[in-house]
Amino acid sequence: MYSQCNVLLVEDDHVLAATLKSGLEEKGFVTMLAHGCRQADVALQAGQVSIVILDLGLPDGDGIDWLQAVRGRGVTIPVLILTARDAVDQRVTGLEAGGDDYLAKPFAFSELVARLRVLTRRGQTSGSILAVGDLTIDLLGRRAQRDGVVLDLSPLEFDVLTHLAHKAGTPVSRDTLMREVWKIEQRATSMDNVIDVLLVRLREKVDKPFPHPLIRTIRGVGFQLQPER
Ligand code: CA
Repeated sequence: MYSQCNVLLVEDDHVLAATLKSGLEEKGFVTMLAHGCRQADVALQAGQVSIVILDLGLPDGDGIDWLQAVRGRGVTIPVLILTARDAVDQRVTGLEAGGDDYLAKPFAFSELVARLRVLTRRGQTSGSILAVGDLTIDLLGRRAQRDGVVLDLSPLEFDVLTHLAHKAGTPVSRDTLMREVWKIEQRATSMDNVIDVLLVRLREKVDKPFPHPLIRTIRGVGFQLQPER
């Protein structure tokens, strides 16, 4: 299990952008690059961005204006402003426009990573994406996708899938599902059939349309979400 953090890096300096991207990926941040406002819009609309690193001086517009427009559309993803404009008034303008934090160039890479970690923890409830193989689960939006295809899940199916995804690679027993998903501690009659029927339906939606199944039955134990190796 990992909570994937997708960074959108908006930076027109190609060399700096490429350097930061490789450094961030080494630290476990999946990083998309945009070299201007228009590319940044396209990337945002494609979805699954957890945090934006935004340079202000961009070839096709001002980062502050872009940020204001994005906030105006109701986008709440954390934004870390990255720029050479280190004057105090610029800093205030950036934060007023909807930035969450500010880092002046030149900066230490370790500081950038530390700030990102703080912001993404803070944003856990707003932009958290859980990813297992080609399955992604948007925890707040309560939407799951496989290979870009939105899965039409009931609330209960979504909860079971999310629970399995949190424990990906580890078998989850029916008792655990009963406790954690159905919130039932004990029951006179077994819930196994209810759970098994739900798992059949879940597999119809999550696995059947795709070449590689993710949900495995572990005999005598329960179920396990496991991406193909
Ligand atoms: Ca720039």
